Amino acid sequence: MLQVTDAVTELKGIGRQRAADLCKLGISTIEDLLHHYPYRYEDRSCLKPLRDMQEGDTETLWGTIVQAQDIYPRRGLKMLRVTVRCADGNAVLVWFNQNHLKSKLQPGLQIVATGKVGKGHVRQISVTDFELLEDEDDLSNFQRIVPIYRGTEKNSSKAIRRLIQQVFETGVESMTEYLPDAHLQQYHLLEYGQAVRQIHFPDDWQQLNWARHRLVLDEFLILLLGMQLHSLIEKKQGIAHAATEQLAARFFAQLPFSLTNAQKKVILEIKKDMEQEQAMKRLVQGDVGSGKTMVAVYTLLKAVSGGYQAVLMAPTEILAEQHYLNLKKMLEPLGIAPMLLTGSLTKKERESVYAAIADGSCPIAIGTHALIQKQVQFANLGAVVIDEQHRFGVRQRLALENKGRAPDVLVMTATPIPRSLALTLYGDMDLSIIDELPPGRQTIKTYCIGESKRQGLYGFLDEQIRAGYQVYIVCPLVEESEKMDLENATHLADHLAVNVYPQYTVGLLHGKMKPKEKAEIMEQFRSGAIQILVSTTVIEVGVDVPNANVMVIENAERFGLAQLHQLRGRVGRGASQAHCFLVAEPKTEEGKRRMAVMVKSSDGFVIAEEDLLLRGAGEVLGTRQHGLPDLKIADLVHDIKILEQSKQLAAQICQSGLEQPQYRQLREKAEAVYQRRLLLQEE
Ligand code: ADP
Ligand code: MG
Repeated sequence: MLQVTDAVTELKGIGRQRAADLCKLGISTIEDLLHHYPYRYEDRSCLKPLRDMQEGDTETLWGTIVQAQDIYPRRGLKMLRVTVRCADGNAVLVWFNQNHLKSKLQPGLQIVATGKVGKGHVRQISVTDFELLEDEDDLSNFQRIVPIYRGTEKNSSKAIRRLIQQVFETGVESMTEYLPDAHLQQYHLLEYGQAVRQIHFPDDWQQLNWARHRLVLDEFLILLLGMQLHSLIEKKQGIAHAATEQLAARFFAQLPFSLTNAQKKVILEIKKDMEQEQAMKRLVQGDVGSGKTMVAVYTLLKAVSGGYQAVLMAPTEILAEQHYLNLKKMLEPLGIAPMLLTGSLTKKERESVYAAIADGSCPIAIGTHALIQKQVQFANLGAVVIDEQHRFGVRQRLALENKGRAPDVLVMTATPIPRSLALTLYGDMDLSIIDELPPGRQTIKTYCIGESKRQGLYGFLDEQIRAGYQVYIVCPLVEESEKMDLENATHLADHLAVNVYPQYTVGLLHGKMKPKEKAEIMEQFRSGAIQILVSTTVIEVGVDVPNANVMVIENAERFGLAQLHQLRGRVGRGASQAHCFLVAEPKTEEGKRRMAVMVKSSDGFVIAEEDLLLRGAGEVLGTRQHGLPDLKIADLVHDIKILEQSKQLAAQICQSGLEQPQYRQLREKAEAVYQRRLLLQEE
């Protein structure tokens, strides 16, 4: 009997080399092997008769090799042609430019081959995948739904299948059920060992469905429990902030606008959280321009009014600086002076900020990652706000939180995360959504134009600038090297300044500039001294210049949807009609689709769903960065129903107490997955 924790080297036929090769697939134990699920299946249980095969379809046949010969249809093209006798006649299998194959395909051997059916009287199949049946092979293993695995050169799909077969034949000791019976019955779940067996060697398609359902549910469940396990431990007794709203009321009274209903709703949720003793953990999601900053300011003020310190962390220096300037101006009338902490302060400046944070004389600290340095010691931190959360990992969030004793935490993100992802990524947080833009915003008119329209575009920009507006022009990463990109952007800026718009000031902003230089350029743009700002993608996040109302995105087909949406969100922040030009000539279907989505929709959630469909979850958010463990079987796009079920079950389990003995194994699995998630983020 094998144990799931045994190394794969316990199996027959696995030496050091093969084991090392399996490692590349993430397989080192028996359990890893069993969790290496097939990526597709082939139904060989009822093979189609040759006469029913249609040209162009992919089919599988089974027969005995009669003859194999190399032929040369053209110079430089070698074709291996193998005649096979099947139950209802002969067929021909072909391979191209395969040198070593012929000697293996000996007459008399049985072969199962899959490929595309060609035309002609004699059935001809261009083989993509085949297996020889050897003497010791049990034919029953081939006349069934056969699993196909992701493999390597040394460990083919077939080799992996054999290993898994060997595991089941030998028997595995500890693959026991870990969900109590009651749950299995309630959700009509296949028993765990059964599910693992059926996912590899399904008896029929129905069994396969059930098996998949069970394993997907498990995967989500364990993920969710891992997060809940930790928020249970972490949701410490925190600070019950005072219920007075004086400071906030004074602040909002002096604003030139009133809050939107969505902002009010979210602020109320935060108020409730903060006045409670339990520490707040809340994620605010709001599309670009929805006014998340107001929500942040409320949170900061709420803490400050009770005598606590508060901190606001942003992912870039530009953004931190912008928040700082903004808040300084807005909070001045209240007699509150925030301080800025970024990496580009001088040593002396930095030390005086450290000192003010440590002795409590700094009420609000605003900054970048510099805030999580060791030297930063708060006197009494009461609230933490993290802007553009998707740029930070869980570790960084925790590092900032740990600067205080269970401070209230608010994280904000503009990446509209589809619900399924939000549940999985931030299952340990409460969710608030700002689902309304401030009034008077018009949708940004978006156009996709080709090179031929460039002159017209420049004419339009000229009109807009003469009318008093400002323009962003963004260049993407086009070349492999950053240097080349910089040259592109520099070249474009020079060209515009000299040849197209000598009458205007053209600024250039890129990632290689010193933070001070960047800040200066941004300041000139904000003040209107620069009319046209050419930039690489550094402006993507959070920058707010309401007077800029035209965004031009060069080579727009190079950007993903989420990024395009973020970039476009830089304009349309004032009351005037804003425009976005996607200069693109997309060649691929996907590229065309992306441009079409942008032209058609300005709703961040629609765009995010579309992005998820086009690219898949891992790509959309960057699996690593988010610490989303790679899901082995669950699919965030298609398995949402099962995810909801898992969520329900997780809640049920937590209610009856995850610490109960019947959940011991489940708890251990959840803990392990959670730890792995944190580890991934550290890399
Ligand atoms: P984001 O959610 O992208 O961070 P900001 O907080 O930067 O959005 O707000 C975008 C712009 O909208 C800012 O110029 C801000 O002053 C303005 N704004 C915020 N709330 C309102 C409101 N209720 N009414 C009008 N304008 C608002
Ligand atoms: Mg913002």
